[in-house]
Amino acid sequence: MNREECSVRLRLADEYSRLVTEFNALLDVLKVRSHPISDVVWNAAEAARTSSQKAWEALERHIVEHGCTDSLPASPGPDLGVLREMNEEES
Ligand SMILES: [Zn+2]
Repeated sequence: MNREECSVRLRLADEYSRLVTEFNALLDVLKVRSHPISDVVWNAAEAARTSSQKAWEALERHIVEHGCTDSLPASPGPDLGVLREMNEEES
C-alpha cells in the first residue's frame, strides 16, 4: 500500500483537523479577557476539546497499529482547568 494514501488515516486526520480548528477558535474567544465569559462558552470549549482529543487518540492509535505514516499532528493540548481558574480569579 502507498503510505501516503491510507484512506482511513486521511479520514481520521480530516476529522481531527476539523474538530481542533473548532476548538482553537473557541480558545481564541476564551483568551480575550475584555469581556466576562459565560459558562456556555466554557462548556462548549471543553466539549470541543474532549471531541478533538478523542479524534487525535483515534488517529494516533491508527498510525501506531497501521504504520502508514511517521507524522502525527500536535495534540489539542492540556485541559482548560488552568485557563478557567485564571479567568475566575480575575473576574
Ligand atoms: Zn493507515
